Amino acid sequence: MRAIRDYLAMLPGVLTFRANTGALPVGDRFVRFGIEGFPDLFGSMPWCWLTDRPLHACRYGHGGVRTGGHGPRPWALEVKRPGAKRSPTQLAMAATLEAAGWLYACVESVADVQRALGR
Ligand SMILES: [Zn+2]
Repeated sequence: MRAIRDYLAMLPGVLTFRANTGALPVGDRFVRFGIEGFPDLFGSMPWCWLTDRPLHACRYGHGGVRTGGHGPRPWALEVKRPGAKRSPTQLAMAATLEAAGWLYACVESVADVQRALGR
């Protein structure tokens, strides 16, 4: 997780947030917090919607970051230890985000992140 967050922090224009979900003991019960199944990391990255690629890969000079088909694209990453499986709730959330146009991937390493975000 640390290496992945360090890598994301180096990418120009990429916003990264950590989504904490889980449950904490409050008195004699557990209280859930966060959005169940939501990926560990999410944010946005500069995107060229005309070529459907990251903005850094755009070679056509369509315009500035917010004009001519360039703008932020939301992404989300589920970070797993090697071999770990996603829960049914996480799989359902993945399908929801992808259907809405998010870049989504389940990753185990920085190399996975590089592939997922197209860099
Ligand atoms: Zn472009």
